[in-house]
Amino acid sequence: MHYARRMPDDRARVVQPVDTLGRPMRDLRISVTDRCNFRCTYCMPKELFGADHAFLPRASLLTFEEIVRLARLFARLGVTKLRLTGGEPLVRRNIERLVAMLAPTPGITDISLTTNGSLLSAAKALSLKDAGLGRITVSLDALDDATFKAMNGVGFPVGRVLEAIDHALAAGFAPVKVNMVVKRGANDHCIEQMAEHFRGSGCILRFIEFMDVGTTNGWRMQDVVPAAEVLQRIHARWPIERVPPNYPGEVANRWRYVDGAGEIGVIASVTQPFCRDCTRARLSAEGVLYTCLFAALGANLRDLLRAGADDAAIVGRIAGIWGGRRDRYSELRSRQTPGVARKKIEMSYIGG
Ligand code: SAM
Repeated sequence: MHYARRMPDDRARVVQPVDTLGRPMRDLRISVTDRCNFRCTYCMPKELFGADHAFLPRASLLTFEEIVRLARLFARLGVTKLRLTGGEPLVRRNIERLVAMLAPTPGITDISLTTNGSLLSAAKALSLKDAGLGRITVSLDALDDATFKAMNGVGFPVGRVLEAIDHALAAGFAPVKVNMVVKRGANDHCIEQMAEHFRGSGCILRFIEFMDVGTTNGWRMQDVVPAAEVLQRIHARWPIERVPPNYPGEVANRWRYVDGAGEIGVIASVTQPFCRDCTRARLSAEGVLYTCLFAALGANLRDLLRAGADDAAIVGRIAGIWGGRRDRYSELRSRQTPGVARKKIEMSYIGG
């Protein structure tokens, strides 16, 4: 195992691990539920996640207290940023209570949430802000109802997501990020329309390449619209220029409109993988730790918690897992034999 620097305060006696490729652990993505009220074709296609789909039973989900304890231990090991995700995180009741419980965690400087916006009322946005949520990302794949309803699989209208974005802005989240997964033939005709809508709006629109997460979304390379193509199309209408990253390992490449109308981002995880800078750990709703979005196997921390393990034992387990980490799936993807399916966890289970 490799070791990095020591931290002050609560984390004083804990050595922060780096993995076999020298990557520290800085971010923890926490899935709070595997359930979602959308059936996006690229994530939870309704044909495969129907009424008979077996979601995790309630008793197997981490409780808020368990999540908070784990977050505190991850923070001791170097994590500074938490992102709540799912499934749809707002279907988990009283999520703002979890945010309030996480906010005072020593070492945590940023708590964010990714949502489809369907349950983000004005009151919910305010209560999340009051609880200490720092940032919100809302997913929206198109501006025309026909395209969006077909992509979200449940006929959810665009207008309600736009209202949710307004509620987030009104509650003081600034900027709000908007995630658009671009899939060839499904919504790539909406790229310029989305850019035009969010220019100068206080939102940062991020174009995400359709990824081969899980095994149920029928991913094919020809359905990926490369980020370079998205940027070229936008640049042709509204010239853009590169913006330096906010911090090393930032997932999105940042660009700004030369005319001052704000910023956009591209997440090119397929065509320009960024594994070598990946500092993200992921916790499923039932407490399984994964060190890669494309992992097949994880380590069950919930069982350790429920067996009465003390903090030192859990910290040791997490540090050992991170120290042994060698995954760089996206960089290796192109070398895989086409047609040979590899078992992977679903995005709805581990969160984005
Ligand atoms: N339900 C929430 C939402 O819709 O934002 C949070 C979970 S969702 C899995 C997180 C993000 O992952 C969303 O922005 C979603 O669009 C994105 N996503 C899901 N499947 C994807 C895929 N196959 N490729 C790229 N992004 C994907």
